[in-house]
Amino acid sequence: LSFDQFIRHWAKERPGHTALEQDGAAITFGEFEERSRKIVAMLAAHGIAKGDRVAWLGKNSRLYFELFYSAARMGAVMVPIGWRLAAPEVAFILGDTGAKLLFIGEGFEKAAAKACGQMESPPEVISTPDAQEAIDSAGADDFEPAGPDDAVLQLYTSGTTGNPKGAVLTNRNLFALRVPSEEEGQPWSHFDEDEAILVCMPCAHIGGTGLGIMAMSSGIRAIVQAEFTPDGVLDGFEQGITRLFIVPAALQMVVQHPRAKTTDMSAIKYVLYGAAPIPLDLLREAVKTVPDAGFLQCYGMTETTGTIAALPPEDHDLDGNQRMKSAGKAVPGVELKVIGEDGQELPRGEVGELICRSPSNMAGYWNLPEATESSLVDGWMHTGDAAYMDEDGYVYIQDRMKDMIISGGENVYPAQVESAIYGHPQIAEVAVIGVPDETWGEAVKACIVPKAGEELDEASVIAWTKERLAGFKVPRSIDVLDVMPRNASGKILRKDLRAPYWQGRE
Ligand code: ATP
Ligand code: MG
Repeated sequence: LSFDQFIRHWAKERPGHTALEQDGAAITFGEFEERSRKIVAMLAAHGIAKGDRVAWLGKNSRLYFELFYSAARMGAVMVPIGWRLAAPEVAFILGDTGAKLLFIGEGFEKAAAKACGQMESPPEVISTPDAQEAIDSAGADDFEPAGPDDAVLQLYTSGTTGNPKGAVLTNRNLFALRVPSEEEGQPWSHFDEDEAILVCMPCAHIGGTGLGIMAMSSGIRAIVQAEFTPDGVLDGFEQGITRLFIVPAALQMVVQHPRAKTTDMSAIKYVLYGAAPIPLDLLREAVKTVPDAGFLQCYGMTETTGTIAALPPEDHDLDGNQRMKSAGKAVPGVELKVIGEDGQELPRGEVGELICRSPSNMAGYWNLPEATESSLVDGWMHTGDAAYMDEDGYVYIQDRMKDMIISGGENVYPAQVESAIYGHPQIAEVAVIGVPDETWGEAVKACIVPKAGEELDEASVIAWTKERLAGFKVPRSIDVLDVMPRNASGKILRKDLRAPYWQGRE
């Protein structure tokens, strides 16, 4: 399967059906097939050939998806760059990829000029209006389509634990797990023709770009929003979206928005969420707030083209179900294993590193042969996540291996402690880290953003946690923060919280 095949298929089957829509303006699958050939011609006129990198710096836009799908048809590799990154970070990614062209969204002229100013051989920058004009005046030529094993997307990891790494993804990677099959009993992988998918997470991440891919491969309308806002998602519900993907931090903003109680959400079929651990209380609140939706937890990483395990809607019942703490089980086509330090598979219930064999596993990291070799071993992607698996194959993600706290010889997974503390009535956000401790090696610390207008009572937070968790997991100290440091994927940057305590020690 390839982009070229999907684009031609839907242009034939659903020519008048909307493919992409933003702020009310839309393009159909039929129109897009034609426009896409013009984009290929425009790229070729700029010297782009198979294997060349083409970058995008900007918010989500229809133009981005049009460029990506079209470049993919001919085997040029799209590199969407996070628009929240600073100039040196953008310059690093551009230099790393060797992109010849940089397309930019509206309002990114200065950001692009600044990043390019820091490079030895900067790419040619093409603004959105210039791109539109060049496409309109191009001829719709024929071209040699890319095959299943050609790279088409280079997506940088979120940079939660270190520098972002460029995961190279092929046509096969992108579509391997997306073929719906009745027999496998996943009703959520079937799309009705009249569905609409909301793309509100940033296109530089698999949760943004991946939803676009899902829509294109399923022949479904994608509604693109420039960036996530809780109001935008609530508007989307009112416009009749049937699916969306959202990270826990964003889901929290939607659920706690005053409009959430009055918005008509009856059209929604599935709420996909994931990319970071979700506090159980937040998940329960979300399920109650959007009662018409089937909730689907997605677990995966950039390197696996997104979801490799999913927790289906039926495991989201609110009656004290332990399964709700799970990230789900392997989706069809994926094998998961939990291994110990010696690389051997561990018995069910024991915590080790989760590894995954999947046709969606990336081809490798761009320019990082050593990192590729150590994380992709004999086809198995080493996730770096600590997890255990139950008898039925459900995985329970504990946390990142790197974030595990060892206190007095006991392993503490921050995500579990955060989930327990999160329910405390005075707390808006919480992150748990390990800090150096003479007696215990490391001690558990909670960094807390209180709810607006609340004065945090530390003793009550500690008492609250003691009631819910073993003593060694209870925070020894608490820091009160104004804002939680998060990256563009909404993930808490624990490395930034830890840094001041570990300076000169690690
Ligand atoms: P970097 O690799 O640069 O440090 P990152 O790992 O955050 O950044 P992504 O590829 O966006 O970059 O995220 C993948 C990671 O997100 C997984 O390895 C896992 O730790 C976390 N994750 C994804 N889905 C879930 C989930 N459903 N529950 C808990 N954690 C999740
Ligand atoms: Mg990672």
